[in-house]
Order: sequence, then structure tokens, then C-alpha cells
Amino acid sequence: MAARKGKERPKGARGSSLLRVLGKADLEATPSPSNRMPCPGLWKTPVIRWDGELMACCADVDGEIAVGNLRDADFDQLWFGEQMTSYRLLHIEGRFEEIPKCWSCGGINFYKMSPDEVRAYLDDVGRADLWAPYAARMGLA
Ligand code: SF4
Repeated sequence: MAARKGKERPKGARGSSLLRVLGKADLEATPSPSNRMPCPGLWKTPVIRWDGELMACCADVDGEIAVGNLRDADFDQLWFGEQMTSYRLLHIEGRFEEIPKCWSCGGINFYKMSPDEVRAYLDDVGRADLWAPYAARMGLA
């Protein structure tokens, strides 16, 4: 097997130029901006691991924010369940520090949750009250 070249980036999330993952030193130096957007991964990119574990996003290779196993529950129960709803609302509220995995991650930045999508989600889960503070936090009209 050929040896890896020194400058070659590893494959996977940590090596991706699209998914920025911060280290502890970065975080201490650059806390999340107050207008950090909710990570679309929590809505749009579920990941199912080989063993049936459903991860909240594609960056969670260690299963830190896994939400359950498809051997024990069906997809809708997990993906639209209490834990995922909690994660999504924390992101909408800008409370990223309450999910250490997300706090230490730059989030998915090559697609987004539009304001309309966030508003529709809040309506769906009966939390329309969070729209006004969200709009203010994100500087929306
Ligand atoms: S912020 Fe990072 S860890 Fe959190 S859901 Fe997004 S990609 Fe995953």
C-alpha cells in the first residue's frame, strides 16, 4: 500500500473543506456569533449508521448526538421525536452551547434553512412563539 503524502487531506467530515469542524482552541478564540444559523443537517440529512443507529447529522461520526436505533423504533418516531425536536429548537434559539457536539462544530454551510422553512417548522411543532426572537436574532425583517 502506498504511503499517504504529507499534504493530503484525510477523507470524511473532518477533512472536508465544506464542513468546518472547530477545535477547542478555535472555540475559545471565536465563540459562535449571535446570528449563527440553525444547522440544516438537523432537518435535511439524517444519517443511519451500519448498526441501525440514527445520527442527528452527517458530522456526528462518533454518535454523540445519536437519537436512537432503527431496530427499536421507526424512522419517523426518531427523526420527528422529542430529542430531535429539542435539538432543532435549541438551534433556532441560538443555544448551541447546550449541544456540545454542535458548539464545537462550524455546522453545515453549503446549504441552509431558509426563513420560510424555519417559520413553517415552528408552526408545525406548535412553537410559533419562537419566530419573533429568531427573526430578531437573525436580523430578518
Ligand atoms: S452543527 Fe455540526 S454537529 Fe451540529 S447538527 Fe450541524 S453538522 Fe451536526
